[in-house]
Amino acid sequence: MFDLRDLYQEVIIDHNRNPRNFRVIEHPSHQAEGYNPLCGDRLTLYLQVDKDGVIQDASFQGVGCAISVASASMMTDYLRGKSVPEAKRLFEKFHAVVTEDMPPEDAELGKLIALAGVKDFPARVKCATLCWHTMQAALNGDESPAKTE
Ligand code: ZN
Repeated sequence: MFDLRDLYQEVIIDHNRNPRNFRVIEHPSHQAEGYNPLCGDRLTLYLQVDKDGVIQDASFQGVGCAISVASASMMTDYLRGKSVPEAKRLFEKFHAVVTEDMPPEDAELGKLIALAGVKDFPARVKCATLCWHTMQAALNGDESPAKTE
């Protein structure tokens, strides 16, 4: 039997080994720091939002565990081309998938569903959601580092 969970793990391993968008955006329109003290994950998120409120570019730098890096890699890939309200709505959705009993079969989330398995590991949820909290902080213009609490 083909186990879907194997595929999900592959996606996470791949994004951890070869993080997408792992770079600095010079003069980003939005930027924020994120820190997950529970695991030690740290990241800086950069967003380039155009005048129409569409995210043209997203990138990150930092150090962290496989889940946090893979999540940031997938999220930055995913955010490109999304509007700011869309991005915020997707965070709500993603958060529900990794914390609640929401069916993970949500086509809109695409590959992000690979992270749904963290639901069974509460400490890991913070690793997976750190980049999203940081995105929200960046979009809201928060100066202080985003925390997962
Ligand atoms: Zn972590």
